[in-house]
Amino acid sequence: MAQHHLHSKEARNFASFRRSMTEEEAESLLAEVRWGSKDMQMCPKCGVVYRHYRKHRRRRWRCSKCTCEFSVTSGSALHSHKIPFKVIIEAVFEFVNHVKGAAILQMSRQLGLTPKTCQVFEGKIREFLVKCTDLTPLQGTVHMDGAYFCGKPRKPNRKIKMPAEAIAKRFGSKKIQNTSRPWIEMGMTQQNWRRQADKRVVMSLCASAGKGNGSARVLAFVCHSENAVDIKNLAARLLTPGTIVMTDEHAAYGVLSGPYEHYSVCHAEEFCTAEGVCNNMSETFNSRARRAQFGVHHGFRPKYLQDYMSESAWRETNRKLSQRDQVLEILRVLLSTGKSE
Ligand SMILES: [Zn+2]
Repeated sequence: MAQHHLHSKEARNFASFRRSMTEEEAESLLAEVRWGSKDMQMCPKCGVVYRHYRKHRRRRWRCSKCTCEFSVTSGSALHSHKIPFKVIIEAVFEFVNHVKGAAILQMSRQLGLTPKTCQVFEGKIREFLVKCTDLTPLQGTVHMDGAYFCGKPRKPNRKIKMPAEAIAKRFGSKKIQNTSRPWIEMGMTQQNWRRQADKRVVMSLCASAGKGNGSARVLAFVCHSENAVDIKNLAARLLTPGTIVMTDEHAAYGVLSGPYEHYSVCHAEEFCTAEGVCNNMSETFNSRARRAQFGVHHGFRPKYLQDYMSESAWRETNRKLSQRDQVLEILRVLLSTGKSE
């Protein structure tokens, strides 16, 4: 039987370095990721690449052209951070090690940082994963599906037990006319009406890595509902014409039939047809994102849903990279895309 990629040696090839890492080693790793060299630095103000004057005690350099002072994180997502370089790398190590997402309270206890610091740190990683998403159109075989997040109405804890006739007899058949309370008209509690308003659909597109290898690249975007207009726009931006697209039986996917080779599977009857038509890669992504929602983060809000989905898509796309490459990839994203907003 083939070995699972998380059982391989590459899945733990950064752990021993992290255990014995010193502050100098951590700084030189960051410098190497940022500037591609341990000896040459690029001034974030004037852009001059040179062996700038080193101020050893402050762990900074002084630019030989414009005389400004900078550190390895100046002008990046980690600009004016207060935590040691070693702890930054440990935090990224924690982030990549959790398969579905890192809980901030667990991270805070493990690293000895406050939960707020961990939340800001993870928020920055997500912000930059959204910014650095590769939007090159997908090709080959692509699975597509939508999943609902954020607004899940709860069972109301009170039930009207009076029969309909008794209510009509007592209150008359006149409907309640109150536009300031739309939830009454819709037969909902106020809380559930609010939850319903937060409901968003996440459309995932997964390009196949060949039979039996799962997905090669995953993209996920937030929409208001699973409708033909949004699906058409997403496909026009993210799919190469002629791509084989596999979806479920939802009527809105009918718009894909013209420019793409579209196949659908009827989930009411089966998960995969005899010919091999399924959208199981998207279902896998949905299921992992759902586990992240319930098991790790305990809830998403519409404002940051795209950030969480980009994180899940990054995890799914890079799941087979070695542990070291995953850490370096996140550091590269944090150090090479400018300051956080
Ligand atoms: Zn300079």
